[in-house]
Parts: sequence; structure tokens; C-alpha cells
Amino acid sequence: AKERGKNSYHMYAPDLQQITSDKMFIQNELNRALALGELDLYYQPQISVSNGDIVGMEALLRWNHPERGLVSPDQFIAVAEETGLIVPIGEWVLQTACKQNMEWQSQGLPPIRMAVNLSARQFLKKDFTQLVADILEQTGLAPHYLELEITESTMIDVHRASSTLAELKQLGVHIAIDDFGTGYSSLSYLKEFPLNRLKIDRSFVRDMKQSPSNRAIVSTIIAMAHNLELRVIAEGVETDDELAFLQEHLCEEVQGYLFSKPLPQDEITTYMQKRKQK
Ligand code: C2E
Ligand code: CA
Ligand code: CA
Ligand code: CA
Repeated sequence: AKERGKNSYHMYAPDLQQITSDKMFIQNELNRALALGELDLYYQPQISVSNGDIVGMEALLRWNHPERGLVSPDQFIAVAEETGLIVPIGEWVLQTACKQNMEWQSQGLPPIRMAVNLSARQFLKKDFTQLVADILEQTGLAPHYLELEITESTMIDVHRASSTLAELKQLGVHIAIDDFGTGYSSLSYLKEFPLNRLKIDRSFVRDMKQSPSNRAIVSTIIAMAHNLELRVIAEGVETDDELAFLQEHLCEEVQGYLFSKPLPQDEITTYMQKRKQK
């Protein structure tokens, strides 16, 4: 076994080196991207199941790389987290998303929530609440039009998370648990933390038609959330069947390709204007 371990070390060594240099490459490139304004936000609507209205938007980060084209967050968020670059990037995201939401309101579009994804590192940073307060003040956005999406992994540092969540509740912003059910934290945080919404992960919504266990998980999450007086949104809704099941189980909101892909600012603004005229 030792012999094999040694061989596999030799086998994997070049790959490791490759990974490390990729990381450094991405880190350098990301630094530049932030400075040169290559980062962009796309927006995906969140729809009320009961009346079909747009009730929110999720801001999703994109990187417009001059040679590599549009780079999706899965390819760079991990590196940004490891290097700490997620902190200035996340600040830019919050600022840009709040400003955009205020702009829509100034254009006379019906007021909606803006959902912003946060990494644990960003959320658990000292003075995070102050940053949010400053951005709300600068942009003039009312706090309840901002919803912060955090994942269960953020809640592993229970002490830190609970004090930040209390401050944010005091401020009046909303909190959603993203990718709900895919993390490792215990459920006890659900009764202890001031939360507004659970977001059912796409992995449970997908294949609901073929998978009885996915249907059981989805309906159980919705029932549990309602018993805890939390609202529910399902992500990754792609088919009418999925929508019908969610509607039947009284899921309040949905988001997914069935309604719209994430779109750049100008396209989503046109989409909202068209829906408003209907
Ligand atoms: P997430 O927050 O779980 O976002 C949902 C992902 O599912 C998005 O991928 C979205 O484009 C995609 N999606 C939405 N509807 C559908 C659908 O109907 N079908 C399918 N197949 N996919 C759908 P995206 O935009 O590539 O983002 C990936 C992840 O990157 C996000 O997952 C989030 O964890 C992270 N992310 C995105 N923007 C930010 C950001 O500003 N800050 C941080 N920290 N993370 C971000
Ligand atoms: Ca999200
Ligand atoms: Ca997800
Ligand atoms: Ca996620």
C-alpha cells in the first residue's frame, strides 16, 4: 500500500502543481478584473406562485473575461474565497445590486426584493452589518428590499453567525438560507436564528417527477418551514410539473429557467417593463 501511495504521489504531483498555478493565475486575473470593471451582475426573477408576479431578483456574479468570455462563478468563487478576494468582490456585488434595485424603483417599476449571495468569509467579517447599513444609506434602498442569501456552512460558527444575524434583523434586511438541505449543519439553528426564508436547493427540485424521495424532501421542507413561520422559495424550477407540485404544496415562490435564465441588466429591465404593461 505504501508503494502504491508513493506512486500515486508521483502520478498526482504534476496535477497539484497545475492546480496551484491555476489558482495563482485566477487570483491575479481576478484582481485585475475587479480593478478594470470586468465583473458583471446578471439577474434572475423570483416569481410569486399565487399570482405570477415578479417579487424579487437574485443577483448572480459573472466575469466578462477579455479572452475567455463569460466565466461562471463556479469557476472562480472558490479561489476568491480562499484568497480573501471575495471580500472586496462581495462588497462590489452588494453595492451594485442595491443601486440597481433602487434604479428600478426610480423608473417606476413595482418595488421588489434584491437577493444577494454571500460567502461565509464575507458574512462573518467584523463590521459586515455596518457595511450593509452604509450601502443602504448610500443607495437609499429600504432594508426590507434587500435579502441576503447565506448557506448552512455559514452557520457552523454559531456564535458569530447568531450575533451578525441579530444585527441584520435589527437593521431590517431579510435573510434566506440558500441550498437548504445540502449542508452539514444541524436543524437547531432554524429556531434560534432570525430567518425569513428557506431556499430549496435545485438538486431536490430536479427529477421530482421521477424521484419519490425528492418529492418527499421538497414537501417536507415546505411543511417544516411553514410550521416555523418561514417562507419558502424553490430554485431551479424548469418544468410545469415541478411548478404544479410546488403550488400544490403551497411553496410561495419559485425561480428557474421555466420563467427566465439569469439575464444582464438591460435585458432584465426590458423583461420587467414588458411584464408591468401586461
Ligand atoms: P446559487 O446561489 O445556488 O445560484 C443558483 C444557480 O443555479 C445559478 O448559477 C443559476 O444561474 C442557476 N440556475 C437558476 N435557475 C436554474 C434552472 O432552472 N436550471 C438550472 N440548471 N440552473 C439554474 P450561477 O449563476 O452559475 O451561480 C452559481 C453559484 O455561484 C451560485 O449558486 C452561488 O453559490 C455562487 N454565486 C453567484 N453569485 C455570487 C455572488 O455574488 N457572491 C457569492 N459569494 N457567490 C455567488
Ligand atoms: Ca443563491
Ligand atoms: Ca443552489
Ligand atoms: Ca450555492
